[in-house]
Amino acid sequence: MRAYERLLRYAQFDTASDEHSPTCPSTAKQRVLADALAGEMRAMGMADVRVDENGYVYGCVPATAEGRPTIGLIAHMDTVDCVPSAPVRARIVENYDGGAVRLDNGEWLDPKVFPDVAAAKGKDLIVTDGNTLLGADDKAGIAEILTACERLLADPAIPHGKVMVGFTPDEEIGRGADRFDISGFGADFAYTVDGGAVGSIEYENFNAADGFVAVHGLSVHPGSAKNRMRNAALVAMEFAGMLPPAETPEHTEGYEGFFHLCGMQGNEDFARLQYIIRDHDRAKFEARKAAFERIGAYLNDKYGAGTIEVRVQDGYANMREVIEPHMNVVRLAERAYRAIGVEPFSEAIRGGTDGARLSYMGLPCPNLASGGMNYHGRFECIAVQDMDAMTDMLVQLVSIDPE
Ligand SMILES: [Zn+2]
Repeated sequence: MRAYERLLRYAQFDTASDEHSPTCPSTAKQRVLADALAGEMRAMGMADVRVDENGYVYGCVPATAEGRPTIGLIAHMDTVDCVPSAPVRARIVENYDGGAVRLDNGEWLDPKVFPDVAAAKGKDLIVTDGNTLLGADDKAGIAEILTACERLLADPAIPHGKVMVGFTPDEEIGRGADRFDISGFGADFAYTVDGGAVGSIEYENFNAADGFVAVHGLSVHPGSAKNRMRNAALVAMEFAGMLPPAETPEHTEGYEGFFHLCGMQGNEDFARLQYIIRDHDRAKFEARKAAFERIGAYLNDKYGAGTIEVRVQDGYANMREVIEPHMNVVRLAERAYRAIGVEPFSEAIRGGTDGARLSYMGLPCPNLASGGMNYHGRFECIAVQDMDAMTDMLVQLVSIDPE
């Protein structure tokens, strides 16, 4: 079976996660796909297949060669819930001509808006009907992993170590790594197959913190407020104005970090600001957090102690620090790409990844391509041949001679 056939099948399962749900998986419908995947894995001949109480799916392809590392391959089952997730009516545009594609709902998938799509010229491009996402993020990853496993099982002459497979729920709401059974998984290292263009290896992501600012004002009738009112909303704006204006998401790229104001409310009496703080570089990240707190201290000096409360809370961290002692994991992926004739490239993720969490939990886990484009939207698409390429790459990854 080819990977795209699996994707088209999995796309029929609505697996949107829900950040407001306290359960795991956050939506019961993810478990329906989990059970279907486990059934498929057993039928294929994979070993130790199980769906655990949290809806995580595990299984393995036993080793055919000795002395090799146990490699993990991980993808997530859920999709975002910010765009309609069902019913997915995917269609294949054969021998895509590189131009705009009219979707069934009348809208256009236009390379002028989505330039990456033009690279799929000459390939068979899977598109949506324009009304829903496709779910290639990350069902393409699942499809590529299982198609690679199928190939390994069909050809015992391919030498490889034990291949562990893990499919997680709730990655899109940041919980995919939470209940991952790393010790049960037993891999020496792993890869998430959840990236973009074929060739990509991601092992750097942001260091992340949330920043909270609360301002306590003193409300007085505006007619008699002179020298007495302390307007909390204005003090909050003063705080915001003291952060560097060019260090925001809309003015930064690459390795440039930022402060991002993502919430504000307030009046004379009380005001609140919410920020996210991001930087790849650990020292710059610490400096950002310190600067954030220093502004609060300055404003308390100016307006009186207790006027402003600033709290910074660390989130995820850049996995580079934990991957660096294991750069052989990245090198192996580079060699696997070259083995299929693709020149690998690495870009720093301007966000987080489950792999970063897993890396800090003790399982080094860079992120590989899945081949998809325009994730988290109705213009999501993926080329059939890119899915084949990633399947080939995964077979190489687990079978090329470890150096
Ligand atoms: Zn994803």
